[in-house]
Amino acid sequence: MNEQTNNTRRGGISVDTEHIFPIIKKWLYSEKDIFLREIVSNAADAITKLKRLSSLGIREDADENYRITVTLDRTAGTLTVADNGIGMTEEELTKYICSIALSGAVDFIEKYENQSDSSKNGIIGHFGLGFYSAFMVSRSVEVNTKSYTDAPAVHWTCNEAGEYETEPSDKSEHGTEVIMHISDEESEYLNPAKIRGMLDKYCSFMPVEIYFDDGEEKQDGEEDKCVNDTFPLWQKAPSECSDEEYNEFYRKVFSDYREPLFHIHINADYPLNFKGILYFPRFANEYETIEGQVKLYYNQVFVADNIKEVIPDYLLVLRGVLDCPELPLNVSRSYLQTNSYVAKVSAHIVKKVADKLNYLCNNNREEYEKIWKDICPFINYACMKDKKFYERVKNSLLLSLTDGRTMTYGEYLDETKEKNENTVYYATDASLQAQYISMFTAEGINVALFERPIESQFCTLLEQYMEGVKFVRVDAEIADSLKGDGSITENEELRELFLRVSGNEKLEVRFDSLKNTSVPALLNISEQSRRMEEMMKYYSFADEAAFPTEMSIVLNTASPLIAKLAETVGTDKEKSEAIASYIYKVCLLSQKKLSADEMQSFLDDSFNILLKL
Ligand code: ADP
Repeated sequence: MNEQTNNTRRGGISVDTEHIFPIIKKWLYSEKDIFLREIVSNAADAITKLKRLSSLGIREDADENYRITVTLDRTAGTLTVADNGIGMTEEELTKYICSIALSGAVDFIEKYENQSDSSKNGIIGHFGLGFYSAFMVSRSVEVNTKSYTDAPAVHWTCNEAGEYETEPSDKSEHGTEVIMHISDEESEYLNPAKIRGMLDKYCSFMPVEIYFDDGEEKQDGEEDKCVNDTFPLWQKAPSECSDEEYNEFYRKVFSDYREPLFHIHINADYPLNFKGILYFPRFANEYETIEGQVKLYYNQVFVADNIKEVIPDYLLVLRGVLDCPELPLNVSRSYLQTNSYVAKVSAHIVKKVADKLNYLCNNNREEYEKIWKDICPFINYACMKDKKFYERVKNSLLLSLTDGRTMTYGEYLDETKEKNENTVYYATDASLQAQYISMFTAEGINVALFERPIESQFCTLLEQYMEGVKFVRVDAEIADSLKGDGSITENEELRELFLRVSGNEKLEVRFDSLKNTSVPALLNISEQSRRMEEMMKYYSFADEAAFPTEMSIVLNTASPLIAKLAETVGTDKEKSEAIASYIYKVCLLSQKKLSADEMQSFLDDSFNILLKL
């Protein structure tokens, strides 16, 4: 019901506001800070609209200094957001501010009354209630506005019960001031640091200059500084951005002073229509919490932090910003989870990450090899989780070799085609397995180094993906090219001797002739049984004590030491047992860490031998 006396008009947004005001106060409690974003983004919209009218020639552009000013007046207890944008006529004010389509919102609220906070928060932007969020923190709100047209300026005041008054205003410049009288219980919003923090979080990249007057006295000549970057890097064309700019942007947004490993600038056109920059961060060590952070923006207005829904979980290590004008300004997690547009954005991001890796591999190999060690576990994991991703990047997956070189799987298989066709030999511990590695490298066979557990897990999967290729750990079998052409004589006495000293009934004793004559024996555990063992350990079915029992020791008949042992075994039992036991323990050493007992006995043996010298 509206009434009019002279120039003053009174009214109440009664029926609807009875519902809406308490709801705004109560339901939006969890994210109260967003009121500032709503009011400032309305101001930015008002300026953008005015600029558009100028660019369309509907209005003469007076080359204005468009800006938004946020002013804190602690004495008056007000927070004001002023813009010199399009402004509103009285008619517009009534239409847009006083008679919002509340019925829809009320229905919505009734329907979702029992839902989680996040979905309630969606109500705001959904029904154009952004302006009303000011009432979450205000006792009353004034709007002083003048349209860019000749229409007279109006002044509107509304209390928290939704009762308002409209009267003529003496405002002479076009634009709008929203004056929020902060309620006593919300006095934290009169704290300059709090407001600065909120501007920083929500408004850092809004497209119109924002100034903050915190009410503190200024030094002579001191001016308020613009608090935002109106043309953030993601809006620029990638060809116009330098690496330094990307790194600086990263430092600023994520307060991380380490340079990221690489970045991806996405500029997706219709129908996806989103922009963004994603970074692969550099970690100090493996134990650092590996969690990326993707900030979501809507036309440069901050929407939400850490949007897990837009990035597949295996790429969550990424950090960055995404500006999606296709999504509403207020989105709930449940909305994102089920939205088909979000799924397409996510798929596009995966494609872009793959493209970037391929680009680096093909065009900037040196740089790519440098970062590979850091990104390898994540890329392996991503390939394990998503075959499509693997298909995209398969030619850019690298192998680190024990000799320090890095090559793609294709290059490895190509280089070793003659010696070990379709077999990738790998080591998991360069020092433990040094003996094996050196035998392979002496024969010109490249050995890959899979130091992290995920790398050896990944190779099991690669065997399925890469037809015909197998992965064999250096200590699993003796490659043909390591074998010499010396004669092999099986020696039963030696076999029994080793069985006896090892105390391992399941030990298989084999004879072979190796090119490297200085190696008397090698322990082998077949690739298959080792992997089985690792899997059992992984699923905690077996512990360290259950070290593979299915081992074989290969005695090198070309080694002088084995030849000597073959002579002594029939004549000097004690001596031959001491030698065999020592050989066995040295072999064990290169397979695993010795247990305390084994180590003790190994040391005793060593000292005894020294004594005999
Ligand atoms: P929304 O912005 O989602 O449309 P709001 O409740 O925030 O919903 O605002 C309603 C309308 O009020 C806006 O669409 C706009 O027309 C008008 N409005 C709000 N703030 C301003 C402003 N600072 N300058 C001009 N018009 C404004």
